[in-house]
Amino acid sequence: MPTQNGELPIFNLYINGQWRPPVAEQYRATYDPATGEALAYIAQADIEDTRLAIQAARSAFDDGYWPSLPPGERSRLLHELVDAIEARQGEIADAEMRDGGCTWRKANLMDIPVGLIHFRHMAKLANFEPLEPVPQIAFPSLSYNYVRREPIGVCGQVIPWNFPFLMAIWKIAPALAAGNTVILKPATFTPLSALKLVEIIHDTGLLPPGVLNLVTGPGQVVGPELCTNPQVDKIAFTGSTEVGREIMQQASSTIKKVTLELGGKSPNIILEDADLDIAVDGSLWAVFMHNGQACESGTRLFVPSSIYDPFMDRLLDRATRLKVGLPSDGATDLGPVISAGQLASVERYIELGLEEGATPLMLGVRPSDPELAHGNFITPTIFADVDNRMRIAQEEIFGPVLCVIRYDSVEEAIRMANDTIYGLAAGVWSTDVERAISVANRLRAGTIWINDYHLISAEAPFGGYKQSGIGRELGTR
Ligand code: NAD
Repeated sequence: MPTQNGELPIFNLYINGQWRPPVAEQYRATYDPATGEALAYIAQADIEDTRLAIQAARSAFDDGYWPSLPPGERSRLLHELVDAIEARQGEIADAEMRDGGCTWRKANLMDIPVGLIHFRHMAKLANFEPLEPVPQIAFPSLSYNYVRREPIGVCGQVIPWNFPFLMAIWKIAPALAAGNTVILKPATFTPLSALKLVEIIHDTGLLPPGVLNLVTGPGQVVGPELCTNPQVDKIAFTGSTEVGREIMQQASSTIKKVTLELGGKSPNIILEDADLDIAVDGSLWAVFMHNGQACESGTRLFVPSSIYDPFMDRLLDRATRLKVGLPSDGATDLGPVISAGQLASVERYIELGLEEGATPLMLGVRPSDPELAHGNFITPTIFADVDNRMRIAQEEIFGPVLCVIRYDSVEEAIRMANDTIYGLAAGVWSTDVERAISVANRLRAGTIWINDYHLISAEAPFGGYKQSGIGRELGTR
């Protein structure tokens, strides 16, 4: 529950069912990336605070009644929680927009409703039958054998800034559904929607103390403690491949279970029989949704030589109509990127693309509109004549930059699409669905959309091949 410091609210840590100041009393402001305005002061946990949260989660798991609740009862409570969150979803959407630069449209029409659907799916799955008889075919025996599905225990969960609410749901909902206890650490840039979510859950009084804990603070401090503390049973991390590598190393000291959802450089392949109107708009949506700040963004667009000119004419025509603006404006397509550092990084990649010899069909610049002068805004970039071996085609830029790669044969497109260290997602566009499926089957990626992009079903497992991660989220078990 926030308190006030002058004009700004102060958010504390949520440990053992209570809001409490950090031991060292350190706070950090969080800012609106569209205006530069400070929004709130956020508690900065240190190792001691993190240990207190771990202890609370441990006790709630070892002594508490949450893990041993009958599944039907846990499912009922979780459904009640989702109803309470839904009733206050406007507060979460507002936090998502102001703290993360997410457009009003995306927050209200996509992230929050999708998060609620995914939470409901997990609440439903919570009502599972924990005992599964083992068939006695391979090893006939007089005894009765069964598998009992049990919660893992204390789950440390670390999430990124690009989809703060959705990522919080993807972490806490399945963990709670299975009877685990949780310590969630939101990203430093975007703590507000997770804090709002926990505030709403706290207000319901439905979860026993210690079942859900939230620690805000620096990843380099909180993260290593969650990863190495022997009282934590599992680490679920979503973020960059670079930090994922560190997490895996740290977690190995106590052989923790690890789920990693990491970066991507996803290929989006246009086949020559694609419906151009749908494929052009779909390709722009694939790469520029949330400014390219999505792990699964279709950042490498493969276009066949046979339709290259008409496709690119339409692509440019549509791209020039994209509106860069304030997230609160319902007409805005691209809001700000998350931080000044991220903006500078995107600009460095644009420079690099020019140095590497890519042709800029649209070159990203900071917009001149005075209304946007204090935010981290940049217009979209489209590079043509990109060689798949260029760094702009291999490294995750995480900004509004599209690399267009021309191809002559589908074989060549598939080979280049797979030529990456990542394997999170892909897209294929064709009017011949069977042909599209045969191409999709040869792509090494966890999720592949056909004539669509970014829609993530709660029923389908999500996760990466190769250095895009380990394990799956969502799905049915
Ligand atoms: P990041 O790796 O910099 O940070 C992610 C989280 O890790 C943050 O909460 C951060 O505070 C924390 N952290 C930082 N250093 C840490 C450390 N040493 N130990 C433990 N935790 C630490 O990522 P980001 O910049 O917040 O997010 C963007 C990245 O996330 C992109 O690479 C994107 O592809 C990826 N991502 C992946 C998925 C997916 O489902 N695969 C979804 C969203 C984002």
